[in-house]
Amino acid sequence: MNIHEYQAKEVLAKFGVAIPKGFAALSVEDAVKAAEQLPGPLYVVKAQIHAGGRGKGKFKELGPDAKGGVRLSKTLDDVRTNAGEMLGNTLVTIQTGEAGKQVNRLYVTDGADIAKEYYLSMLVDRASGRIAMVVSTEGGMDIEAVAHDTPEKIQTITIDPAEGFQPHHGRAVAFALKLKGDLNKQAAKVAEQLYNAFLATDMAMLEVNPLVETTDGQLLVLDAKVSFDSNSLYRHPDILALRDETEEDPAEVEASKYDLAYIKLDGDIGCMVNGAGLAMATMDIIKLNGMFPANFLDVGGGANKEKVTAAFKIILQDPNVKGILVNIFGGIMKCDVIAEGIVAAAKEVNLSVPLVVRLEGTNVQLGKEIMANSGLPIVPADDLGDAAKKIVAEVKKAA
Ligand code: ADP
Ligand code: MG
Repeated sequence: MNIHEYQAKEVLAKFGVAIPKGFAALSVEDAVKAAEQLPGPLYVVKAQIHAGGRGKGKFKELGPDAKGGVRLSKTLDDVRTNAGEMLGNTLVTIQTGEAGKQVNRLYVTDGADIAKEYYLSMLVDRASGRIAMVVSTEGGMDIEAVAHDTPEKIQTITIDPAEGFQPHHGRAVAFALKLKGDLNKQAAKVAEQLYNAFLATDMAMLEVNPLVETTDGQLLVLDAKVSFDSNSLYRHPDILALRDETEEDPAEVEASKYDLAYIKLDGDIGCMVNGAGLAMATMDIIKLNGMFPANFLDVGGGANKEKVTAAFKIILQDPNVKGILVNIFGGIMKCDVIAEGIVAAAKEVNLSVPLVVRLEGTNVQLGKEIMANSGLPIVPADDLGDAAKKIVAEVKKAA
Protein backbone atom coordinates (compact mmCIF):
# COMPACT_ATOMS: atom_id res chain seq x y z
CA MET A 1 0.00 0.00 0.00
CA ASN A 2 1.31 3.43 -0.95
CA ILE A 3 0.68 6.70 0.87
CA HIS A 4 1.18 10.38 0.10
CA GLU A 5 4.33 12.33 0.89
CA TYR A 6 2.66 14.40 3.62
CA GLN A 7 1.39 11.24 5.32
CA ALA A 8 4.79 9.58 5.08
CA LYS A 9 6.34 12.64 6.72
CA GLU A 10 3.80 12.50 9.55
CA VAL A 11 4.69 8.85 10.15
CA LEU A 12 8.43 9.59 10.11
CA ALA A 13 8.06 12.61 12.40
CA LYS A 14 6.71 10.28 15.11
CA PHE A 15 10.12 8.60 15.09
CA GLY A 16 11.92 11.89 15.60
CA VAL A 17 12.94 12.47 11.97
CA ALA A 18 13.65 16.16 11.19
CA ILE A 19 11.09 17.40 8.68
CA PRO A 20 10.17 20.95 7.62
CA LYS A 21 6.79 22.14 8.82
CA GLY A 22 3.88 21.77 6.41
CA PHE A 23 0.14 21.19 5.93
CA ALA A 24 -2.01 19.28 3.46
CA ALA A 25 -4.62 21.28 1.52
CA LEU A 26 -7.60 20.30 -0.64
CA SER A 27 -8.43 23.80 -1.91
CA VAL A 28 -6.64 26.98 -2.97
CA GLU A 29 -7.97 28.76 0.12
CA ASP A 30 -6.62 26.03 2.41
CA ALA A 31 -3.26 26.19 0.64
CA VAL A 32 -3.03 29.92 1.33
CA LYS A 33 -4.14 29.42 4.94
CA ALA A 34 -1.48 26.74 5.33
CA ALA A 35 1.20 29.09 4.02
CA GLU A 36 0.04 31.79 6.44
CA GLN A 37 0.91 29.46 9.32
CA LEU A 38 4.44 28.95 8.03
CA PRO A 39 7.29 31.34 8.81
CA GLY A 40 8.27 32.04 5.14
CA PRO A 41 9.95 33.67 3.27
CA LEU A 42 9.92 30.64 0.96
CA TYR A 43 6.94 28.28 0.61
CA VAL A 44 6.84 25.10 -1.46
CA VAL A 45 3.56 23.89 -2.97
CA LYS A 46 3.75 20.18 -3.75
CA ALA A 47 1.27 18.00 -5.67
CA GLN A 48 0.26 14.93 -3.66
CA ILE A 49 -0.09 11.94 -5.95
CA HIS A 50 1.10 8.36 -5.51
CA ALA A 51 3.99 8.82 -7.92
CA GLY A 52 7.45 10.34 -7.89
CA GLY A 53 9.16 12.61 -10.39
CA ARG A 54 6.73 15.44 -9.64
CA GLY A 55 9.34 18.17 -9.78
CA LYS A 56 10.13 17.38 -13.41
CA GLY A 57 6.53 16.46 -14.22
CA LYS A 58 4.29 18.38 -16.63
CA PHE A 59 0.63 19.29 -16.34
CA LYS A 60 -1.38 18.11 -19.34
CA GLU A 61 -3.64 21.14 -19.27
CA LEU A 62 -0.88 23.74 -18.91
CA GLY A 63 1.44 23.10 -21.84
CA PRO A 64 5.17 22.31 -21.95
CA ASP A 65 6.45 25.62 -20.56
CA ALA A 66 4.49 25.59 -17.30
CA LYS A 67 6.17 24.63 -14.05
CA GLY A 68 5.90 21.08 -12.61
CA GLY A 69 4.34 19.56 -9.51
CA VAL A 70 6.80 21.01 -6.95
CA ARG A 71 6.76 24.80 -6.94
CA LEU A 72 8.81 27.23 -4.91
CA SER A 73 6.64 30.21 -4.01
CA LYS A 74 7.98 33.50 -2.67
CA THR A 75 4.72 35.16 -1.61
CA LEU A 76 1.23 34.16 -0.52
CA ASP A 77 0.03 35.29 -3.94
CA ASP A 78 2.47 32.89 -5.58
CA VAL A 79 1.09 30.13 -3.36
CA ARG A 80 -2.42 31.03 -4.51
CA THR A 81 -1.47 31.01 -8.21
CA ASN A 82 0.52 27.78 -7.99
CA ALA A 83 -2.18 25.98 -5.98
CA GLY A 84 -4.82 27.14 -8.49
CA GLU A 85 -2.79 25.85 -11.44
CA MET A 86 -2.21 22.46 -9.88
CA LEU A 87 -5.49 21.45 -8.23
CA GLY A 88 -7.79 19.50 -10.54
CA ASN A 89 -5.19 19.27 -13.30
CA THR A 90 -3.39 16.16 -14.50
CA LEU A 91 0.28 15.72 -13.69
CA VAL A 92 2.33 13.45 -15.94
CA THR A 93 5.65 12.21 -14.52
CA ILE A 94 8.05 9.42 -15.46
CA GLN A 95 6.23 7.27 -12.91
CA THR A 96 2.58 7.97 -13.78
CA GLY A 97 2.59 6.76 -17.38
CA GLU A 98 1.11 8.85 -20.19
CA ALA A 99 -2.33 9.08 -18.59
CA GLY A 100 -0.94 11.04 -15.65
CA LYS A 101 -2.70 11.53 -12.32
CA GLN A 102 -5.19 14.15 -11.30
CA VAL A 103 -3.96 16.34 -8.46
CA ASN A 104 -6.62 16.55 -5.76
CA ARG A 105 -4.40 17.34 -2.83
CA LEU A 106 -1.49 19.64 -2.14
CA TYR A 107 1.14 19.89 0.54
CA VAL A 108 2.31 23.35 1.47
CA THR A 109 5.61 23.28 3.27
CA ASP A 110 8.49 25.42 4.46
CA GLY A 111 11.09 26.16 1.82
CA ALA A 112 14.54 24.92 2.79
CA ASP A 113 17.76 26.72 1.93
CA ILE A 114 19.53 23.80 0.28
CA ALA A 115 23.32 23.45 0.33
CA LYS A 116 23.41 19.85 -0.97
CA GLU A 117 20.99 17.04 -1.80
CA TYR A 118 21.60 13.41 -0.75
CA TYR A 119 19.76 10.15 -1.39
CA LEU A 120 18.75 7.52 1.17
CA SER A 121 16.37 4.64 0.63
CA MET A 122 15.57 1.41 2.40
CA LEU A 123 14.03 -1.82 1.24
CA VAL A 124 13.69 -5.45 2.19
CA ASP A 125 16.44 -7.28 0.35
CA ARG A 126 15.14 -10.78 -0.19
CA ALA A 127 18.44 -12.14 -1.50
CA SER A 128 20.31 -11.38 1.74
CA GLY A 129 17.29 -11.60 4.04
CA ARG A 130 18.27 -8.19 5.38
CA ILE A 131 17.23 -4.59 5.21
CA ALA A 132 19.25 -2.71 2.64
CA MET A 133 19.99 0.97 3.08
CA VAL A 134 20.92 2.53 -0.24
CA VAL A 135 22.69 5.89 -0.06
CA SER A 136 24.28 8.35 -2.42
CA THR A 137 25.95 11.74 -2.27
CA GLU A 138 24.18 12.56 -5.56
CA GLY A 139 20.59 12.95 -4.40
CA GLY A 140 17.87 14.97 -6.11
CA MET A 141 15.85 14.70 -9.23
CA ASP A 142 18.48 12.92 -11.36
CA ILE A 143 19.04 9.85 -9.19
CA GLU A 144 17.95 7.54 -12.05
CA ALA A 145 20.73 8.99 -14.23
CA VAL A 146 23.24 8.54 -11.39
CA ALA A 147 22.25 4.88 -11.04
CA HIS A 148 22.64 4.41 -14.78
CA ASP A 149 25.83 6.41 -15.50
CA THR A 150 27.82 6.29 -12.26
CA PRO A 151 26.55 3.34 -10.21
CA GLU A 152 29.71 3.50 -8.04
CA LYS A 153 28.24 6.64 -6.47
CA ILE A 154 25.47 4.55 -4.94
CA GLN A 155 26.36 2.48 -1.89
CA THR A 156 24.46 -0.20 -0.04
CA ILE A 157 24.66 -0.94 3.67
CA THR A 158 22.77 -4.01 4.86
CA ILE A 159 21.35 -4.48 8.32
CA ASP A 160 20.51 -7.86 9.79
CA PRO A 161 17.14 -7.36 11.54
CA ALA A 162 18.15 -9.95 14.16
CA GLU A 163 21.13 -7.78 15.09
CA GLY A 164 19.23 -4.51 14.70
CA PHE A 165 20.60 -1.08 13.87
CA GLN A 166 24.04 -0.68 15.43
CA PRO A 167 26.16 2.47 15.77
CA HIS A 168 28.51 1.17 13.06
CA HIS A 169 25.61 1.17 10.57
CA GLY A 170 25.02 4.85 11.31
CA ARG A 171 28.73 5.61 10.88
CA ALA A 172 28.76 3.70 7.57
CA VAL A 173 25.86 5.80 6.26
CA ALA A 174 27.49 9.07 7.37
CA PHE A 175 30.81 7.97 5.83
CA ALA A 176 29.18 7.00 2.53
CA LEU A 177 27.57 10.46 2.42
CA LYS A 178 31.02 12.01 3.11
CA LEU A 179 29.67 14.07 5.99
CA LYS A 180 31.90 15.56 8.68
CA GLY A 181 31.44 16.95 12.18
CA ASP A 182 27.92 17.59 13.38
CA LEU A 183 26.40 16.65 10.01
CA ASN A 184 28.07 13.25 10.35
CA LYS A 185 26.30 12.76 13.70
CA GLN A 186 22.99 13.93 12.25
CA ALA A 187 23.28 11.44 9.38
CA ALA A 188 23.89 8.52 11.74
CA LYS A 189 20.92 9.64 13.82
CA VAL A 190 18.48 10.07 10.93
CA ALA A 191 19.53 6.68 9.49
CA GLU A 192 18.64 5.04 12.81
CA GLN A 193 15.33 6.92 13.08
CA LEU A 194 14.37 5.90 9.54
CA TYR A 195 15.33 2.30 10.27
CA ASN A 196 13.17 2.30 13.40
CA ALA A 197 10.21 3.70 11.47
CA PHE A 198 10.73 1.18 8.66
CA LEU A 199 10.74 -1.79 11.03
CA ALA A 200 7.98 -0.65 13.39
CA THR A 201 5.46 0.07 10.65
CA ASP A 202 6.36 -2.85 8.33
CA MET A 203 7.41 -0.73 5.39
CA ALA A 204 8.35 -2.49 2.17
CA MET A 205 10.12 0.54 0.76
CA LEU A 206 11.16 3.96 1.99
CA GLU A 207 12.79 6.51 -0.26
CA VAL A 208 14.07 9.84 0.98
CA ASN A 209 15.13 11.85 -2.05
CA PRO A 210 16.33 14.36 -1.29
CA LEU A 211 17.73 14.27 2.18
CA VAL A 212 19.21 17.77 2.31
CA GLU A 213 21.92 19.65 4.08
CA THR A 214 20.77 23.23 4.63
CA THR A 215 23.05 26.25 4.49
CA ASP A 216 22.83 26.47 8.28
CA GLY A 217 24.02 22.89 8.76
CA GLN A 218 20.81 20.94 9.31
CA LEU A 219 20.01 17.58 7.74
CA LEU A 220 16.33 17.50 6.68
CA VAL A 221 14.01 15.05 4.95
CA LEU A 222 12.49 17.04 2.04
CA ASP A 223 10.73 14.21 0.23
CA ALA A 224 9.54 10.81 1.44
CA LYS A 225 8.00 8.01 -0.54
CA VAL A 226 6.76 5.04 1.45
CA SER A 227 5.03 1.78 0.70
CA PHE A 228 3.90 -0.75 3.28
CA ASP A 229 3.78 -4.52 3.17
CA SER A 230 0.05 -5.09 2.56
CA ASN A 231 0.15 -8.42 4.40
CA SER A 232 1.02 -6.62 7.62
CA LEU A 233 -1.66 -3.95 7.50
CA TYR A 234 -3.96 -5.92 9.80
CA ARG A 235 -1.66 -5.04 12.66
CA HIS A 236 -1.43 -1.33 11.77
CA PRO A 237 -4.97 0.13 11.73
CA ASP A 238 -3.48 3.64 11.97
CA ILE A 239 -1.50 3.04 8.77
CA LEU A 240 -4.43 1.40 6.98
CA ALA A 241 -6.44 4.55 7.71
CA LEU A 242 -3.99 6.47 5.48
CA ARG A 243 -5.10 4.54 2.39
CA ASP A 244 -6.30 6.82 -0.43
CA GLU A 245 -8.46 4.69 -2.72
CA THR A 246 -8.82 7.50 -5.26
CA GLU A 247 -5.14 6.93 -6.12
CA GLU A 248 -5.66 3.24 -6.85
CA ASP A 249 -7.06 1.42 -9.88
CA PRO A 250 -10.86 1.20 -9.27
CA ALA A 251 -11.00 -2.46 -10.37
CA GLU A 252 -8.23 -3.34 -7.92
CA VAL A 253 -10.06 -1.53 -5.10
CA GLU A 254 -13.25 -3.47 -5.92
CA ALA A 255 -11.29 -6.75 -5.99
CA SER A 256 -9.73 -6.10 -2.59
CA LYS A 257 -13.25 -5.83 -1.09
CA TYR A 258 -13.80 -9.49 -2.03
CA ASP A 259 -10.31 -10.55 -1.02
CA LEU A 260 -9.44 -11.20 -4.66
CA ALA A 261 -5.86 -10.61 -5.77
CA TYR A 262 -6.42 -8.76 -9.07
CA ILE A 263 -3.86 -6.90 -11.16
CA LYS A 264 -4.95 -5.33 -14.43
CA LEU A 265 -2.76 -6.02 -17.47
CA ASP A 266 -2.89 -5.02 -21.14
CA GLY A 267 -3.98 -8.20 -22.96
CA ASP A 268 -7.32 -9.60 -24.24
CA ILE A 269 -7.90 -12.79 -22.24
CA GLY A 270 -9.44 -12.41 -18.80
CA CYS A 271 -8.17 -15.02 -16.34
CA MET A 272 -9.83 -16.42 -13.24
CA VAL A 273 -7.64 -18.87 -11.38
CA ASN A 274 -7.19 -20.17 -7.86
CA GLY A 275 -3.69 -19.95 -6.46
CA ALA A 276 -1.01 -17.47 -7.45
CA GLY A 277 1.28 -20.12 -8.97
CA LEU A 278 -1.47 -21.54 -11.17
CA ALA A 279 -2.47 -17.99 -12.14
CA MET A 280 1.11 -17.26 -13.27
CA ALA A 281 1.25 -20.54 -15.22
CA THR A 282 -2.09 -19.70 -16.88
CA MET A 283 -0.81 -16.30 -17.96
CA ASP A 284 2.36 -17.88 -19.36
CA ILE A 285 0.48 -20.48 -21.37
CA ILE A 286 -1.85 -17.86 -22.86
CA LYS A 287 1.25 -16.03 -24.08
CA LEU A 288 2.70 -19.27 -25.45
CA ASN A 289 -0.44 -19.60 -27.53
CA GLY A 290 0.02 -16.16 -29.01
CA MET A 291 -2.30 -13.93 -26.98
CA PHE A 292 -1.89 -11.88 -23.81
CA PRO A 293 -3.63 -12.03 -20.42
CA ALA A 294 -5.88 -9.07 -19.54
CA ASN A 295 -5.26 -9.56 -15.85
CA PHE A 296 -3.82 -11.60 -13.04
CA LEU A 297 -6.57 -12.87 -10.77
CA ASP A 298 -6.23 -15.26 -7.88
CA VAL A 299 -9.62 -16.02 -6.33
CA GLY A 300 -7.93 -17.76 -3.41
CA GLY A 301 -8.75 -21.02 -1.71
CA GLY A 302 -12.38 -20.41 -0.74
CA ALA A 303 -13.88 -19.48 -4.12
CA ASN A 304 -17.65 -19.38 -3.56
CA LYS A 305 -20.42 -18.13 -5.82
CA GLU A 306 -20.22 -14.58 -4.48
CA LYS A 307 -16.48 -14.39 -5.12
CA VAL A 308 -16.74 -15.93 -8.58
CA THR A 309 -19.52 -13.49 -9.54
CA ALA A 310 -17.51 -10.52 -8.27
CA ALA A 311 -14.49 -11.81 -10.18
CA PHE A 312 -16.49 -12.13 -13.43
CA LYS A 313 -17.79 -8.59 -13.04
CA ILE A 314 -14.33 -7.18 -12.38
CA ILE A 315 -12.85 -9.01 -15.38
CA LEU A 316 -15.66 -7.80 -17.66
CA GLN A 317 -15.29 -4.17 -16.56
CA ASP A 318 -12.14 -4.16 -18.68
CA PRO A 319 -13.24 -3.24 -22.23
CA ASN A 320 -10.22 -5.10 -23.70
CA VAL A 321 -11.47 -8.50 -22.53
CA LYS A 322 -12.46 -10.66 -25.52
CA GLY A 323 -12.68 -13.99 -23.73
CA ILE A 324 -12.35 -15.54 -20.27
CA LEU A 325 -10.32 -18.51 -19.19
CA VAL A 326 -11.26 -20.09 -15.88
CA ASN A 327 -8.67 -22.47 -14.51
CA ILE A 328 -9.55 -23.90 -11.13
CA PHE A 329 -8.17 -26.79 -9.19
CA GLY A 330 -10.76 -28.19 -6.80
CA GLY A 331 -8.68 -29.31 -3.88
CA ILE A 332 -10.23 -27.82 -0.77
CA MET A 333 -13.20 -26.70 -2.86
CA LYS A 334 -15.19 -29.31 -4.76
CA CYS A 335 -15.51 -28.95 -8.55
CA ASP A 336 -19.31 -29.25 -8.54
CA VAL A 337 -19.60 -26.33 -6.11
CA ILE A 338 -17.28 -24.25 -8.29
CA ALA A 339 -19.20 -25.22 -11.44
CA GLU A 340 -22.46 -24.09 -9.86
CA GLY A 341 -20.81 -20.80 -8.95
CA ILE A 342 -19.51 -20.30 -12.49
CA VAL A 343 -22.88 -21.08 -14.07
CA ALA A 344 -24.79 -18.79 -11.71
CA ALA A 345 -22.25 -15.99 -12.15
CA ALA A 346 -22.19 -16.32 -15.95
CA LYS A 347 -26.00 -16.05 -16.00
CA GLU A 348 -26.05 -13.11 -13.61
CA VAL A 349 -23.55 -11.04 -15.60
CA ASN A 350 -25.08 -12.01 -18.98
CA LEU A 351 -21.76 -13.23 -20.23
CA SER A 352 -21.17 -11.99 -23.77
CA VAL A 353 -17.64 -13.25 -24.49
CA PRO A 354 -16.40 -16.83 -24.96
CA LEU A 355 -15.77 -18.73 -21.74
CA VAL A 356 -13.42 -21.71 -21.45
CA VAL A 357 -13.35 -23.57 -18.16
CA ARG A 358 -10.76 -26.04 -17.04
CA LEU A 359 -11.67 -27.79 -13.82
CA GLU A 360 -9.63 -30.50 -12.16
CA GLY A 361 -9.85 -32.22 -8.81
CA THR A 362 -12.55 -33.53 -6.49
CA ASN A 363 -15.95 -34.24 -8.15
CA VAL A 364 -14.66 -33.06 -11.52
CA GLN A 365 -17.14 -35.23 -13.50
CA LEU A 366 -20.06 -33.79 -11.60
CA GLY A 367 -18.72 -30.28 -12.22
CA LYS A 368 -18.43 -30.87 -15.96
CA GLU A 369 -22.00 -32.20 -16.10
CA ILE A 370 -23.34 -29.11 -14.34
CA MET A 371 -21.67 -26.87 -16.93
CA ALA A 372 -22.75 -29.06 -19.87
CA ASN A 373 -26.38 -29.01 -18.67
CA SER A 374 -26.41 -25.27 -17.92
CA GLY A 375 -27.55 -24.23 -21.38
CA LEU A 376 -24.62 -21.81 -21.50
CA PRO A 377 -22.00 -21.98 -24.28
CA ILE A 378 -19.25 -22.90 -21.82
CA VAL A 379 -16.33 -24.65 -23.52
CA PRO A 380 -14.85 -27.32 -21.25
CA ALA A 381 -11.12 -28.05 -21.30
CA ASP A 382 -9.15 -30.99 -19.96
CA ASP A 383 -5.82 -29.50 -19.04
CA LEU A 384 -3.90 -26.25 -19.03
CA GLY A 385 -2.56 -26.55 -22.59
CA ASP A 386 -5.95 -27.55 -23.96
CA ALA A 387 -7.63 -24.64 -22.14
CA ALA A 388 -5.22 -22.04 -23.53
CA LYS A 389 -5.55 -23.37 -27.11
CA LYS A 390 -9.32 -23.36 -26.84
CA ILE A 391 -9.72 -19.82 -25.49
CA VAL A 392 -7.38 -18.42 -28.17
CA ALA A 393 -9.32 -20.30 -30.86
CA GLU A 394 -12.69 -19.15 -29.47
CA VAL A 395 -11.63 -15.50 -29.33
CA LYS A 396 -10.30 -15.65 -32.90
CA LYS A 397 -13.52 -17.32 -34.06
CA ALA A 398 -15.65 -14.61 -32.38
CA ALA A 399 -13.60 -11.76 -33.88
P1 ADP B 1 9.77 14.60 -6.66
O1 ADP B 1 10.79 13.64 -6.19
O2 ADP B 1 8.42 13.97 -6.81
O3 ADP B 1 10.21 15.35 -7.89
P2 ADP B 1 10.58 16.27 -4.41
O4 ADP B 1 9.84 16.47 -3.16
O5 ADP B 1 11.81 15.44 -4.33
O6 ADP B 1 9.57 15.72 -5.52
O7 ADP B 1 10.94 17.73 -4.97
C1 ADP B 1 11.74 17.93 -6.11
C2 ADP B 1 12.86 18.93 -5.78
O8 ADP B 1 12.27 20.13 -5.31
C3 ADP B 1 13.80 18.47 -4.69
O9 ADP B 1 14.86 17.69 -5.22
C4 ADP B 1 14.26 19.78 -4.11
O10 ADP B 1 15.34 20.30 -4.87
C5 ADP B 1 13.06 20.70 -4.29
N1 ADP B 1 12.28 20.78 -3.03
C6 ADP B 1 11.36 19.92 -2.59
N2 ADP B 1 10.87 20.29 -1.39
C7 ADP B 1 11.52 21.42 -1.05
C8 ADP B 1 11.48 22.30 0.10
N3 ADP B 1 10.66 22.08 1.13
N4 ADP B 1 12.32 23.36 0.09
C9 ADP B 1 13.14 23.61 -0.95
N5 ADP B 1 13.22 22.83 -2.04
C10 ADP B 1 12.43 21.74 -2.10
MG1 MG C 1 11.95 13.36 -4.60
